[in-house]
Amino acid sequence: AARLAYEHDRTLSTHAFAEGEHPAVRIEHLNKAFDDNVVLRDVNLTVWPGEVVVVLGPSGSGKSTMLRCINRLETPTAGHILFNDEEITGSSKVRLCEMRKHLGMVFQNFNLFPHLSAKENVMIGQVKALGRTKEEAEAEAVRQLGAVGLADRVDFMPAQLSGGQQQRVAIARAVAMHPDVLLFDEPTSALDPELVRGVLDVMRDLAENSGMTMIVVTHEMGFARDVADRVVFMEDGLVVEEGLPGDVFDHPKSERTAAFLGNIE
Ligand code: ADP
Ligand code: MG
Repeated sequence: AARLAYEHDRTLSTHAFAEGEHPAVRIEHLNKAFDDNVVLRDVNLTVWPGEVVVVLGPSGSGKSTMLRCINRLETPTAGHILFNDEEITGSSKVRLCEMRKHLGMVFQNFNLFPHLSAKENVMIGQVKALGRTKEEAEAEAVRQLGAVGLADRVDFMPAQLSGGQQQRVAIARAVAMHPDVLLFDEPTSALDPELVRGVLDVMRDLAENSGMTMIVVTHEMGFARDVADRVVFMEDGLVVEEGLPGDVFDHPKSERTAAFLGNIE
């Protein structure tokens, strides 16, 4: 089955597939219900190492729930999720903790610790979860904050930073953990329009220059078109369509995708 998926995905992604590589994330027949509300019906998605997958879809289609099932902030109702070829669906707490060290997440609302400086926000996970020394964590924090253009803001508190700067701290914090996969849940949706660009530029730089595996939920169509290896369109708890950005945007196969893109552009 993995072999088949590999051949299948080749035609849907600009990712440079390597022979014999294993999926970074594989979602099989994922179902998630909150009581009677079935939110994910049968989601199948494979993400390859270094691939940048952008997930589009209307509000309420289950995009956040899918990301939250991947890092197990939600427990799937049925189906399987494999992370680096390891089934995590029924894993123990200890195992999930271990897995989360290799999975980063960037949220819509930044989720910085308000009482810690930018640098301390980037250090804390490195020290607590990875056991790095304070010195190592601080050097990495300064490096990553520099990489997102915040070299002169390392000692600022979140409240002293703009939304865009806070989100860049959150990205630096995630990257400092050197995760295998980085999940983004509408990272620019809470920002004033003039601050969106700086965050997208940081994400584009990560996508193009770090080799990071990224799953990005966003409504930024320009970013999706330019940066994604593959675009996935979700509606009503299903992956309705996936493919090369040019194909999905210019020749959507599904009427639902066409209608969504027609409304948003
Ligand atoms: P999207 O991110 O695509 O906007 P979500 O995954 O946030 O969609 O939500 C999909 C559906 O799941 C919505 O109907 C939402 O109300 C429901 N939902 C999400 N989280 C919960 C929860 N914790 N409890 C109950 N319902 C939820
Ligand atoms: Mg959402």
